[in-house]
Amino acid sequence: MIIVMDHRAGDDKIDAVITRLEKAGFQIHLSRGVERTIIGAIGDKTHIGDIGLEAMSGVEKVVPILQPYKLASRTFQEEGTVIKVGGLEIGGDTVHVAAGPCAVESREQVLETAEIVKKAGATILRGGAFKPRSSPYSFQGLEEEGLKFLAEARDLTGLLIVTEVMDVRTVPMIAEYADILQIGARNMQNFSLLREVAKVDKPVLLKRGPSATIEEWLMAAEYIMSGGNYNIILCERGIKSFENYTRNTLDLTAIPVVKHLSHLPVIVDPSHAIGKWRFVPTMAKAAIAAGADGLLIEVHPNPPEALCDGPQSLTPANFNKMMSELQQVVMAVGRKMP
Ligand code: PEP
Ligand code: MN
Repeated sequence: MIIVMDHRAGDDKIDAVITRLEKAGFQIHLSRGVERTIIGAIGDKTHIGDIGLEAMSGVEKVVPILQPYKLASRTFQEEGTVIKVGGLEIGGDTVHVAAGPCAVESREQVLETAEIVKKAGATILRGGAFKPRSSPYSFQGLEEEGLKFLAEARDLTGLLIVTEVMDVRTVPMIAEYADILQIGARNMQNFSLLREVAKVDKPVLLKRGPSATIEEWLMAAEYIMSGGNYNIILCERGIKSFENYTRNTLDLTAIPVVKHLSHLPVIVDPSHAIGKWRFVPTMAKAAIAAGADGLLIEVHPNPPEALCDGPQSLTPANFNKMMSELQQVVMAVGRKMP
């Protein structure tokens, strides 16, 4: 349920409505927009008729949110969310590119990649220190040592850091190093992990599960938001289909659909979707044309030697080329690159 306040309603009126809702057992989420304040009330809607909200001064209307996700829905917040992190605005006019290796492999590899992607125009460095691998015999990541290399790269380049959290036990440690916490596709419905990142004061990049519907994905976002963290960046990274030439199937239709249903920013990871570097730049451009707010791209200084996801990683030269081609598309859709 949302309570739309009249644009002239002052804090006293807003507080009175909140007090009444809280007394009736509702959980409150306040959204102060430029135009008006919206009070989100989560609880048993059968009681809402009894507390006379519509008669209260300052209340314009009471609207039920029909979708199962409430805080993530456009009904709750009409304007798109712009996430402010380390001087960047994600979800605004500027398209941001996060780039870097699949996994942090060594200090040299991370620092070299950071310099390369920064020069090409990326604003965020990606790299996993904890890797969710299909095989327990594959490289699992450098863990805290890898986080230290990422932090050093941030100090040297000014890039922000996005890195994956896989386990509730390591959330506090990773949050000390990272600017943005990534929830990987395989963990999209790890509800205890979602609840844990909800308590952290850092934005969360929430990947879509390989077999998750849009509604399930938005419900995962709802878990984090209802726990108090509203700064969520959704990331489409390909879903399972019958097609096996590509690693996954990039669902570009999800971009306009999610943007219609939700106010959260959406970025696209064509690297994991396609799984073959050759097709990554084309789909990166397609994603921006379809309205994505940013990209997550795997780049490795020497892809054939990569410990993880070499076949989908762009070389520095190919990343540079992609970034300059991207510029044209970004301008064509009326947006900017940093
Ligand atoms: C990654 O970004 O390195 C990753 C493991 O991606 P996903 O969770 O989308 O497979
Ligand atoms: Mn990868």
